[in-house]
Amino acid sequence: MNSSLELRHGQSLRALNTFGIDATAAAYLRVTGVDDLRAMRADPALSEMRRLVLGGGSNVLLTGDFDGLVLHMANLGTAVSGEDGHSVFVTAQAGENWHAFVQWTIDHGLPGLENLSLIPGSVGASPIQNIGAYGSEVADFFHSLTAFNLDTGEMLSLTKDDCAFGYRDSVFKHGLRDRAVIVEVTFTLPKRWQPNLRYAELAAEIDARGIQSPSAKDISEAVVAIRTRKLPDPAKIGNAGSFFKNPVVSAEQRHALLAQHPAMVSYLQADGSYKLAAGWLIDQCGWKGKSLGAAGVHEKQALVLVNKGGASGAEILQLATTICDDVNASFGVMLEPEPVLV
Ligand SMILES: Cc1cc2nc3c(=O)[nH]c(=O)nc-3n(C[C@H](O)[C@H](O)[C@H](O)COP(=O)(O)OP(=O)(O)OC[C@H]3O[C@@H](n4cnc5c(N)ncnc54)[C@H](O)[C@@H]3O)c2cc1C
Repeated sequence: MNSSLELRHGQSLRALNTFGIDATAAAYLRVTGVDDLRAMRADPALSEMRRLVLGGGSNVLLTGDFDGLVLHMANLGTAVSGEDGHSVFVTAQAGENWHAFVQWTIDHGLPGLENLSLIPGSVGASPIQNIGAYGSEVADFFHSLTAFNLDTGEMLSLTKDDCAFGYRDSVFKHGLRDRAVIVEVTFTLPKRWQPNLRYAELAAEIDARGIQSPSAKDISEAVVAIRTRKLPDPAKIGNAGSFFKNPVVSAEQRHALLAQHPAMVSYLQADGSYKLAAGWLIDQCGWKGKSLGAAGVHEKQALVLVNKGGASGAEILQLATTICDDVNASFGVMLEPEPVLV
């Protein structure tokens, strides 16, 4: 065993997942750089274990103890890494906190990421589900990333096309699932910046603050204010943000559903399909504010499942499955979980 590795056995993961699920990992490694990953692969006992890469633990549901090795990303550093005529490139290490990184870019006069303020988690996880909020998503500002290939021990350089970003989706949920550890991400931030106020609630918040030409900092503060009002703080009540993705249905299915539910909320997509509001569907089934044991549905946001205190991952999963069944029975629409089930 490599003595320089910060390895622990039987590590509690309770403080390492925002649901606050009390699960343990058979082995835990704090990863401060690629050398730790190389040393882990070189160690026969560790390289054979099942692996889970963890950043801030804000998009996972631990359904039980993890019998493998948790690789907890803790490599730090943020720097301007180049520029061209249109953009400034900024590279951040995977273990950096996402919101702190967004604030760093704004404080350094590099706007672009402000609509994504206060999303919990790490920089390294931001491409995994192409995080998005308030009319922006990471893919809009993504340039490239470097990852460690757990199968071969080689470094991978991936461009935006390689990542195959979609709605809460990327290659890291498919072909590269559990095979690549993202080590650093480079973002391209526009030299000619325009505020993005396409999201009506954000535009209204800026308006209510009496701001005519908002700066990136104004937008970030407005986003933080809206999010703080709407979303439960994981430090106070365990949750992983939206538990379900908004389902996408065909125009025909939407038409048939609207005939039965004229108040149904839907948004036209570029390909002619429609995105439905999962929160609305769940609310219609009467789940808002309800619980099953210690697992609950948030009283203000039907899309957010919460740990009301001491819930197990299995209890949260049971609630999620029951809600899915109800929505399917009422609307014929299958909801998909957004967090990764472990
Ligand atoms: C209150 C709240 C609000 C939220 N709001 C939003 C929102 O508005 N929009 C949004 O998109 N998401 C939102 N989320 C979800 C979450 O913040 C994001 O998905 C975030 O990117 C997860 O980061 P993390 O570091 O916590 O990832 P983790 O939960 O640690 O991991 C998530 C997945 O990514 C993998 N992973 C993590 N780091 C790496 C890495 N370096 N290399 C390879 N794989 C890795 C893990 O194995 C796992 O599969 C919210 C969550 C909470 C709790």
